[in-house]
Amino acid sequence: MDILEKIPSRREVIESFKSTGGKIAAVYPYHYHRALFRAFDILPVEVWGPPGIDTTYGSSYLQPYVCSVVHSGLSFYLSGGLDVVDFIVVPHACDSLQGLGSVYIDFVKPKQPVFTIYIPRGRKDLDVEFLSKEFESIFNRLKELTGKSVTEDKLMEEILKEEEALKKVRELYSKREQISLSDYHFYRVVRSREYLPAEKFMEIADHLLENFSDGTEREGVPVIFSGLLPEPMEILEKLEEIDGRIVADDFACCGRRLYGEGKSNNPFVRMAESILNSPPDSSRGATVDERVEHLSSLVKKYGARGVVFYIVKFCEMELFYIPHMMRGLKERGIPSVYIEVDINDPLPDQTITRLEAFVEVL
Ligand code: SF4
Repeated sequence: MDILEKIPSRREVIESFKSTGGKIAAVYPYHYHRALFRAFDILPVEVWGPPGIDTTYGSSYLQPYVCSVVHSGLSFYLSGGLDVVDFIVVPHACDSLQGLGSVYIDFVKPKQPVFTIYIPRGRKDLDVEFLSKEFESIFNRLKELTGKSVTEDKLMEEILKEEEALKKVRELYSKREQISLSDYHFYRVVRSREYLPAEKFMEIADHLLENFSDGTEREGVPVIFSGLLPEPMEILEKLEEIDGRIVADDFACCGRRLYGEGKSNNPFVRMAESILNSPPDSSRGATVDERVEHLSSLVKKYGARGVVFYIVKFCEMELFYIPHMMRGLKERGIPSVYIEVDINDPLPDQTITRLEAFVEVL
């Protein structure tokens, strides 16, 4: 059976969750904690664009040099794509998302309550305390808005469930080389966590591990992808056609969210510990050295022969890093290539040719 047949669509998941009385939160990229919402019977459904949206709706609020993830995300709302949701969550991952949060609150003024989440940048002693307070204030606001008296024990129960699901994602990554799935199929499964409830995701992951791990080693030139997201996802099929394969990633939607488990018995502190324990990334203000070290260690661990920076056009957050990171990798003898994409455009032939040329020389 095709694994994709087991993955329900976003629409099906939303309809089924709402039919049992649950509510939906549309969540923009990318650091937040799912348990905070699940404790109130709210399902977080992430909004990464989506690709292929008519972005003229958002253009009246956004400058043309804002990235396509934000343009599509706002246009999706303005064209009615988020009418079904009950809450909107905009983490401050980058300046563009911070701007989007302000556009919602100050100009669009949607009928749904809007939450912003500020994730601490850099490394400071107060980070855990700050983020735990941020989560606690969202928790208290959700209590008021929903009228539900959710206890901290209930929140902890949801946190543990999400930690189990996360363990499953890590298992999928650690067994990736033995899982007989194309990169396209693998990332469709991993990315279904963007909207599936933890329990449904674990069911699919277990099915995958039981039925698709036949021990056959995958073939193709091993590479690592870094960037925000693998969109258009056709890039993964093209990579396979040109005999490349992804052995690990530094995608914001995937590898950068392989959070560690929190340790505290206080649920707010535990959620903060978990998020802050993620691999170094741009949205949290990691240094160039930390990111180069992280990518180098992935290259070494998974035997990759090069790194592909697959970057959304106008993503300033990533663009500040790229020249320094490419230089840092080069000094360590690791080749890399920079490819720019717009998630709303079809994959250009030029992009495929560039990728092909890179993979050929590795
Ligand atoms: S693609 Fe870059 S600029 Fe756009 S929302 Fe994501 S992090 Fe921000």
